[in-house]
Amino acid sequence: MSALLRRAEQIHDLSRDELVCLLSGREYDREIFAAADRVRRKYVGDEVHLRGLIEFSNICRRNCFYCGLRAGNRGLGRYRLTPEEIIGLARKGREYGYRTVVLQSGEDDYYTVAKMCQIIRELKQYGLAVALSIGEKSGADYAAFREAGADRYLLRIETTDRRLYEDLDPGMSHENRKRCLRDLKRLGYEVGCGSLVGLPGQTIASLADDILYFRSLEADMVGIGPFIPHMDTPLKGAQGGDFLLSLKVMALTRLLLPDSNIPATTAMETLRREGRLLALQSGANVVMPNISELQYRRLYALYPGKAGADESPEESRAELCRKLEGMGRTVGKGYGSRQKLYAREKAGRRRPGAARRENS
Ligand code: SAM
Ligand code: SF4
Repeated sequence: MSALLRRAEQIHDLSRDELVCLLSGREYDREIFAAADRVRRKYVGDEVHLRGLIEFSNICRRNCFYCGLRAGNRGLGRYRLTPEEIIGLARKGREYGYRTVVLQSGEDDYYTVAKMCQIIRELKQYGLAVALSIGEKSGADYAAFREAGADRYLLRIETTDRRLYEDLDPGMSHENRKRCLRDLKRLGYEVGCGSLVGLPGQTIASLADDILYFRSLEADMVGIGPFIPHMDTPLKGAQGGDFLLSLKVMALTRLLLPDSNIPATTAMETLRREGRLLALQSGANVVMPNISELQYRRLYALYPGKAGADESPEESRAELCRKLEGMGRTVGKGYGSRQKLYAREKAGRRRPGAARRENS
Protein backbone atom coordinates (compact mmCIF):
# COMPACT_ATOMS: atom_id res chain seq x y z
CA MET A 1 0.00 0.00 0.00
CA SER A 2 2.87 2.35 0.79
CA ALA A 3 4.21 1.72 -2.72
CA LEU A 4 0.81 2.59 -4.15
CA LEU A 5 0.74 5.86 -2.23
CA ARG A 6 4.31 6.70 -3.22
CA ARG A 7 3.34 6.23 -6.84
CA ALA A 8 0.23 8.36 -6.41
CA GLU A 9 2.37 11.10 -4.90
CA GLN A 10 4.88 10.94 -7.74
CA ILE A 11 2.80 10.37 -10.85
CA HIS A 12 -0.61 11.54 -9.61
CA ASP A 13 -2.46 8.54 -10.88
CA LEU A 14 -4.68 5.94 -9.23
CA SER A 15 -7.11 3.53 -10.86
CA ARG A 16 -10.74 3.30 -9.77
CA ASP A 17 -10.00 0.04 -7.92
CA GLU A 18 -7.03 1.60 -6.14
CA LEU A 19 -9.13 4.59 -5.09
CA VAL A 20 -11.86 2.26 -3.81
CA CYS A 21 -9.27 0.35 -1.83
CA LEU A 22 -7.82 3.52 -0.24
CA LEU A 23 -11.27 4.92 0.49
CA SER A 24 -12.53 1.70 2.06
CA GLY A 25 -9.97 1.13 4.84
CA ARG A 26 -8.81 3.42 7.61
CA GLU A 27 -5.33 1.94 8.05
CA TYR A 28 -3.52 4.28 5.64
CA ASP A 29 -5.44 7.47 6.37
CA ARG A 30 -2.53 9.25 8.08
CA GLU A 31 -0.21 8.43 5.18
CA ILE A 32 -2.79 9.66 2.65
CA PHE A 33 -3.27 12.96 4.51
CA ALA A 34 0.50 13.48 4.82
CA ALA A 35 1.08 12.72 1.12
CA ALA A 36 -1.68 15.17 0.13
CA ASP A 37 -0.09 17.83 2.34
CA ARG A 38 3.30 17.35 0.63
CA VAL A 39 1.74 17.49 -2.84
CA ARG A 40 -0.14 20.65 -1.85
CA ARG A 41 3.08 22.29 -0.70
CA LYS A 42 4.96 21.27 -3.86
CA TYR A 43 2.35 22.46 -6.37
CA VAL A 44 0.43 25.32 -4.73
CA GLY A 45 2.76 26.33 -1.91
CA ASP A 46 2.07 27.51 1.62
CA GLU A 47 -0.22 30.39 0.69
CA VAL A 48 -3.87 30.06 1.67
CA HIS A 49 -6.21 32.00 -0.60
CA LEU A 50 -9.16 33.64 1.11
CA ARG A 51 -12.34 34.28 -0.87
CA GLY A 52 -15.10 36.48 0.57
CA LEU A 53 -18.41 34.63 0.31
CA ILE A 54 -21.61 36.65 -0.21
CA GLU A 55 -24.80 34.62 0.14
CA PHE A 56 -27.09 37.04 -1.63
CA SER A 57 -30.39 35.16 -1.88
CA ASN A 58 -31.81 32.08 -0.17
CA ILE A 59 -34.72 31.85 -2.63
CA CYS A 60 -34.53 28.78 -4.82
CA ARG A 61 -36.83 27.28 -7.44
CA ARG A 62 -35.21 23.83 -7.04
CA ASN A 63 -36.07 21.09 -4.62
CA CYS A 64 -32.83 19.22 -3.90
CA PHE A 65 -33.71 16.71 -1.18
CA TYR A 66 -30.56 17.46 0.83
CA CYS A 67 -30.73 21.27 0.97
CA GLY A 68 -32.49 23.50 3.49
CA LEU A 69 -33.02 26.20 0.84
CA ARG A 70 -35.21 23.92 -1.31
CA ALA A 71 -38.45 25.56 -2.51
CA GLY A 72 -40.49 22.98 -0.57
CA ASN A 73 -39.12 24.18 2.78
CA ARG A 74 -41.96 26.55 3.63
CA GLY A 75 -40.77 27.21 7.18
CA LEU A 76 -37.70 29.21 6.13
CA GLY A 77 -37.81 33.02 6.08
CA ARG A 78 -36.61 34.11 2.66
CA TYR A 79 -34.47 37.09 1.66
CA ARG A 80 -32.78 38.53 -1.36
CA LEU A 81 -30.29 41.41 -1.46
CA THR A 82 -30.55 44.26 -3.93
CA PRO A 83 -27.73 44.70 -6.46
CA GLU A 84 -26.64 47.78 -4.46
CA GLU A 85 -26.44 45.75 -1.24
CA ILE A 86 -24.38 43.06 -2.98
CA ILE A 87 -22.00 45.65 -4.38
CA GLY A 88 -21.75 47.33 -0.95
CA LEU A 89 -20.77 44.01 0.70
CA ALA A 90 -18.18 43.30 -1.99
CA ARG A 91 -16.65 46.75 -1.49
CA LYS A 92 -16.41 46.08 2.23
CA GLY A 93 -14.83 42.73 1.41
CA ARG A 94 -12.22 44.50 -0.69
CA GLU A 95 -11.49 46.77 2.31
CA TYR A 96 -11.05 43.76 4.61
CA GLY A 97 -8.40 42.56 2.16
CA TYR A 98 -10.25 40.05 -0.06
CA ARG A 99 -9.20 39.95 -3.71
CA THR A 100 -11.95 37.49 -4.72
CA VAL A 101 -15.64 37.54 -3.94
CA VAL A 102 -17.90 34.55 -4.44
CA LEU A 103 -21.53 35.41 -5.14
CA GLN A 104 -23.69 32.48 -4.11
CA SER A 105 -27.47 31.96 -4.07
CA GLY A 106 -30.32 29.59 -4.68
CA GLU A 107 -31.58 29.48 -8.25
CA ASP A 108 -33.49 32.75 -8.00
CA ASP A 109 -34.95 34.11 -11.26
CA TYR A 110 -35.25 37.62 -9.80
CA TYR A 111 -31.60 38.10 -10.77
CA THR A 112 -31.93 38.32 -14.52
CA VAL A 113 -28.89 38.05 -16.76
CA ALA A 114 -28.94 41.84 -17.15
CA LYS A 115 -28.96 42.37 -13.35
CA MET A 116 -26.14 39.88 -12.77
CA CYS A 117 -24.05 41.41 -15.56
CA GLN A 118 -24.50 44.87 -14.07
CA ILE A 119 -23.32 43.59 -10.66
CA ILE A 120 -20.32 41.77 -12.18
CA ARG A 121 -19.25 44.81 -14.21
CA GLU A 122 -19.43 46.99 -11.12
CA LEU A 123 -17.38 44.55 -9.02
CA LYS A 124 -14.69 44.38 -11.68
CA GLN A 125 -14.23 48.15 -11.22
CA TYR A 126 -12.95 47.43 -7.70
CA GLY A 127 -10.24 45.12 -8.96
CA LEU A 128 -11.93 41.98 -7.60
CA ALA A 129 -11.87 38.51 -9.10
CA VAL A 130 -15.52 37.46 -9.34
CA ALA A 131 -16.71 33.91 -8.79
CA LEU A 132 -20.34 32.92 -9.27
CA SER A 133 -22.18 30.03 -7.65
CA ILE A 134 -25.76 30.49 -8.83
CA GLY A 135 -26.60 27.12 -10.34
CA GLU A 136 -27.58 25.80 -13.74
CA LYS A 137 -27.98 28.32 -16.58
CA SER A 138 -27.97 28.21 -20.37
CA GLY A 139 -24.70 28.44 -22.30
CA ALA A 140 -25.79 31.90 -23.50
CA ASP A 141 -26.25 33.10 -19.90
CA TYR A 142 -22.83 31.76 -18.87
CA ALA A 143 -21.33 33.51 -21.92
CA ALA A 144 -22.97 36.82 -20.93
CA PHE A 145 -21.60 36.62 -17.35
CA ARG A 146 -18.16 35.83 -18.71
CA GLU A 147 -18.37 38.73 -21.14
CA ALA A 148 -19.30 41.01 -18.22
CA GLY A 149 -16.09 39.94 -16.46
CA ALA A 150 -16.90 36.88 -14.28
CA ASP A 151 -13.70 34.91 -13.73
CA ARG A 152 -14.81 31.73 -11.97
CA TYR A 153 -17.87 29.56 -11.56
CA LEU A 154 -18.57 26.98 -8.88
CA LEU A 155 -21.00 24.20 -9.73
CA ARG A 156 -20.68 20.92 -7.91
CA ILE A 157 -21.62 17.74 -9.71
CA GLU A 158 -22.82 16.67 -6.19
CA THR A 159 -22.44 12.99 -7.15
CA THR A 160 -21.38 11.26 -10.36
CA ASP A 161 -23.96 8.56 -9.69
CA ARG A 162 -26.55 9.67 -12.22
CA ARG A 163 -29.39 7.71 -10.68
CA LEU A 164 -28.69 8.96 -7.18
CA TYR A 165 -28.38 12.53 -8.46
CA GLU A 166 -31.69 12.39 -10.29
CA ASP A 167 -33.43 10.74 -7.31
CA LEU A 168 -32.20 13.44 -4.93
CA ASP A 169 -32.59 16.41 -7.29
CA PRO A 170 -36.13 16.05 -8.65
CA GLY A 171 -36.66 17.61 -12.06
CA MET A 172 -32.94 18.01 -12.68
CA SER A 173 -30.87 15.99 -15.15
CA HIS A 174 -27.34 14.78 -14.63
CA GLU A 175 -26.69 15.28 -18.33
CA ASN A 176 -27.60 18.96 -18.03
CA ARG A 177 -25.36 19.37 -14.98
CA LYS A 178 -22.45 17.98 -17.02
CA ARG A 179 -23.41 20.18 -19.98
CA CYS A 180 -23.20 23.23 -17.71
CA LEU A 181 -19.70 22.24 -16.56
CA ARG A 182 -18.56 21.67 -20.15
CA ASP A 183 -19.97 25.05 -21.22
CA LEU A 184 -18.18 26.79 -18.35
CA LYS A 185 -14.87 25.17 -19.31
CA ARG A 186 -15.34 26.05 -22.96
CA LEU A 187 -16.03 29.68 -22.07
CA GLY A 188 -12.71 29.96 -20.23
CA TYR A 189 -13.96 30.20 -16.67
CA GLU A 190 -11.88 28.79 -13.86
CA VAL A 191 -14.29 26.00 -13.04
CA GLY A 192 -15.01 24.73 -9.56
CA CYS A 193 -16.65 21.34 -9.21
CA GLY A 194 -17.16 19.13 -6.18
CA SER A 195 -19.36 16.65 -4.42
CA LEU A 196 -21.22 15.78 -1.26
CA VAL A 197 -19.94 12.86 0.79
CA GLY A 198 -22.38 10.66 2.67
CA LEU A 199 -25.55 11.00 0.62
CA PRO A 200 -27.95 8.13 1.38
CA GLY A 201 -27.31 5.30 -1.08
CA GLN A 202 -23.93 6.68 -2.20
CA THR A 203 -21.25 4.01 -2.64
CA ILE A 204 -17.49 4.16 -2.13
CA ALA A 205 -17.09 3.29 -5.84
CA SER A 206 -19.12 6.36 -6.78
CA LEU A 207 -16.85 8.55 -4.61
CA ALA A 208 -13.90 7.13 -6.57
CA ASP A 209 -15.78 8.04 -9.76
CA ASP A 210 -16.27 11.58 -8.43
CA ILE A 211 -12.50 12.04 -8.07
CA LEU A 212 -11.87 10.64 -11.55
CA TYR A 213 -14.57 12.93 -12.93
CA PHE A 214 -12.90 16.03 -11.41
CA ARG A 215 -9.71 14.97 -13.13
CA SER A 216 -11.37 14.33 -16.50
CA LEU A 217 -12.99 17.77 -16.28
CA GLU A 218 -9.60 19.30 -15.39
CA ALA A 219 -11.40 21.16 -12.61
CA ASP A 220 -9.55 24.26 -11.45
CA MET A 221 -11.18 24.06 -8.02
CA VAL A 222 -12.77 21.16 -6.16
CA GLY A 223 -14.95 21.59 -3.08
CA ILE A 224 -15.69 18.45 -1.10
CA GLY A 225 -18.02 18.55 1.86
CA PRO A 226 -19.87 16.09 4.06
CA PHE A 227 -23.62 15.99 3.57
CA ILE A 228 -25.24 17.30 6.79
CA PRO A 229 -28.95 16.45 7.14
CA HIS A 230 -31.42 19.28 7.62
CA MET A 231 -34.55 18.53 9.65
CA ASP A 232 -36.89 20.38 7.26
CA THR A 233 -35.93 18.29 4.22
CA PRO A 234 -36.93 14.80 3.05
CA LEU A 235 -33.49 13.55 4.17
CA LYS A 236 -33.96 14.59 7.81
CA GLY A 237 -33.58 11.00 9.04
CA ALA A 238 -30.40 10.28 7.06
CA GLN A 239 -27.13 9.52 8.76
CA GLY A 240 -25.11 12.19 6.99
CA GLY A 241 -21.48 12.27 5.90
CA ASP A 242 -18.43 11.18 7.85
CA PHE A 243 -15.73 13.78 8.51
CA LEU A 244 -12.75 11.50 7.93
CA LEU A 245 -14.17 10.01 4.76
CA SER A 246 -14.82 13.52 3.40
CA LEU A 247 -11.29 14.53 4.35
CA LYS A 248 -9.95 11.48 2.53
CA VAL A 249 -11.93 12.15 -0.65
CA MET A 250 -10.43 15.66 -0.54
CA ALA A 251 -6.88 14.39 0.10
CA LEU A 252 -7.07 11.85 -2.75
CA THR A 253 -8.40 14.63 -4.99
CA ARG A 254 -5.24 16.60 -4.16
CA LEU A 255 -3.08 13.59 -5.12
CA LEU A 256 -4.76 13.30 -8.52
CA LEU A 257 -5.18 17.03 -9.23
CA PRO A 258 -1.96 18.37 -7.70
CA ASP A 259 -2.21 22.02 -8.76
CA SER A 260 -5.94 22.64 -8.32
CA ASN A 261 -7.38 25.01 -5.73
CA ILE A 262 -9.07 23.01 -2.99
CA PRO A 263 -11.14 24.72 -0.30
CA ALA A 264 -11.33 23.63 3.30
CA THR A 265 -15.12 23.72 3.32
CA THR A 266 -17.45 25.21 5.94
CA ALA A 267 -19.27 21.86 6.16
CA MET A 268 -15.99 20.29 7.36
CA GLU A 269 -15.70 22.94 10.08
CA THR A 270 -19.35 22.37 11.02
CA LEU A 271 -18.84 18.65 11.51
CA ARG A 272 -15.57 18.87 13.42
CA ARG A 273 -14.12 21.71 15.51
CA GLU A 274 -11.03 23.00 13.65
CA GLY A 275 -12.08 20.77 10.74
CA ARG A 276 -11.01 23.51 8.34
CA LEU A 277 -7.49 23.56 9.76
CA LEU A 278 -7.28 19.77 9.50
CA ALA A 279 -8.37 20.07 5.87
CA LEU A 280 -5.63 22.67 5.28
CA GLN A 281 -3.13 20.13 6.61
CA SER A 282 -4.51 17.40 4.36
CA GLY A 283 -4.38 18.99 0.91
CA ALA A 284 -6.55 22.14 1.02
CA ASN A 285 -5.26 25.64 0.17
CA VAL A 286 -8.37 27.86 0.08
CA VAL A 287 -10.86 29.14 2.67
CA MET A 288 -14.08 30.99 1.87
CA PRO A 289 -15.05 33.09 4.91
CA ASN A 290 -18.56 34.48 4.93
CA ILE A 291 -18.79 38.25 4.50
CA SER A 292 -22.60 38.45 4.37
CA GLU A 293 -24.54 40.40 7.00
CA LEU A 294 -25.09 38.40 10.21
CA GLN A 295 -28.89 38.79 10.04
CA TYR A 296 -29.00 36.81 6.78
CA ARG A 297 -26.51 34.06 7.61
CA ARG A 298 -28.98 32.30 9.89
CA LEU A 299 -31.41 32.20 6.95
CA TYR A 300 -28.89 30.76 4.49
CA ALA A 301 -29.49 27.44 6.19
CA LEU A 302 -28.35 24.68 3.84
CA TYR A 303 -27.83 22.52 6.92
CA PRO A 304 -28.02 23.07 10.69
CA GLY A 305 -25.23 24.48 12.86
CA LYS A 306 -23.32 26.07 9.98
CA ALA A 307 -19.93 27.17 11.27
CA GLY A 308 -19.21 30.90 11.41
CA ALA A 309 -22.90 31.91 11.40
CA ASP A 310 -22.39 34.40 14.26
CA GLU A 311 -18.89 35.78 13.61
CA SER A 312 -18.36 39.24 12.19
CA PRO A 313 -16.31 39.35 8.96
CA GLU A 314 -13.48 41.39 10.56
CA GLU A 315 -13.20 39.11 13.61
CA SER A 316 -13.34 35.88 11.65
CA ARG A 317 -10.73 37.05 9.15
CA ALA A 318 -8.34 38.22 11.87
CA GLU A 319 -8.80 34.99 13.84
CA LEU A 320 -8.28 32.87 10.74
CA CYS A 321 -5.12 34.78 9.78
CA ARG A 322 -3.72 34.21 13.29
CA LYS A 323 -4.41 30.49 13.07
CA LEU A 324 -2.87 30.24 9.60
CA GLU A 325 0.30 31.96 10.77
CA GLY A 326 0.43 29.59 13.72
CA MET A 327 0.43 26.71 11.24
CA GLY A 328 3.26 28.21 9.21
CA ARG A 329 0.98 29.22 6.34
CA THR A 330 0.63 32.67 4.81
CA VAL A 331 -2.41 34.49 3.48
CA GLY A 332 -2.27 34.87 -0.31
CA LYS A 333 -2.08 38.49 -1.42
CA GLY A 334 -2.95 37.98 -5.09
CA TYR A 335 -6.05 36.63 -6.82
CA GLY A 336 -5.09 33.05 -6.12
CA SER A 337 -5.95 31.79 -9.57
CA ARG A 338 -4.88 28.26 -10.44
CA GLN A 339 -1.28 28.36 -11.62
CA LYS A 340 -1.32 25.00 -13.46
CA LEU A 341 2.22 24.16 -12.40
CA TYR A 342 1.67 20.43 -12.76
CA ALA A 343 -0.20 20.82 -16.04
CA ARG A 344 2.78 22.80 -17.43
CA GLU A 345 5.25 20.30 -16.02
CA LYS A 346 3.34 17.47 -17.72
CA ALA A 347 3.13 19.35 -21.03
CA GLY A 348 6.91 19.99 -20.83
CA ARG A 349 7.55 16.28 -20.30
CA ARG A 350 5.52 15.53 -23.41
CA ARG A 351 7.64 17.84 -25.62
CA PRO A 352 10.40 15.68 -27.21
CA GLY A 353 13.07 18.37 -26.63
CA ALA A 354 12.12 18.64 -22.99
CA ALA A 355 12.34 14.87 -22.53
CA ARG A 356 15.87 14.85 -24.03
CA ARG A 357 16.93 17.68 -21.71
CA GLU A 358 15.54 15.80 -18.70
CA ASN A 359 17.45 12.65 -19.71
CA SER A 360 20.76 14.36 -20.39
N1 SAM B 1 -27.80 26.79 -5.84
C1 SAM B 1 -26.46 26.65 -6.29
C2 SAM B 1 -26.14 25.21 -6.58
O1 SAM B 1 -26.87 24.32 -6.12
O2 SAM B 1 -25.14 24.98 -7.28
C3 SAM B 1 -25.44 27.19 -5.32
C4 SAM B 1 -25.80 27.22 -3.88
S1 SAM B 1 -25.92 25.61 -3.12
C5 SAM B 1 -26.60 26.03 -1.58
C6 SAM B 1 -24.19 25.28 -2.78
C7 SAM B 1 -23.87 23.87 -2.34
O3 SAM B 1 -24.41 23.62 -1.05
C8 SAM B 1 -24.42 22.76 -3.17
O4 SAM B 1 -23.63 22.54 -4.32
C9 SAM B 1 -24.40 21.58 -2.20
O5 SAM B 1 -23.31 20.70 -2.44
C10 SAM B 1 -24.25 22.23 -0.82
N2 SAM B 1 -25.27 21.75 0.12
C11 SAM B 1 -26.59 21.84 -0.01
N3 SAM B 1 -27.21 21.20 1.02
C12 SAM B 1 -26.24 20.70 1.82
C13 SAM B 1 -26.24 19.91 3.01
N4 SAM B 1 -27.37 19.53 3.58
N5 SAM B 1 -25.03 19.54 3.54
C14 SAM B 1 -23.88 19.96 2.97
N6 SAM B 1 -23.83 20.69 1.83
C15 SAM B 1 -25.00 21.06 1.26
FE1 SF4 C 1 -31.30 25.27 -4.57
FE2 SF4 C 1 -28.65 24.88 -4.73
FE3 SF4 C 1 -30.06 24.18 -2.52
FE4 SF4 C 1 -30.41 22.78 -4.77
S1 SF4 C 1 -28.48 22.93 -3.58
S2 SF4 C 1 -32.05 23.53 -3.41
S3 SF4 C 1 -30.20 24.37 -6.32
S4 SF4 C 1 -29.73 26.20 -3.29
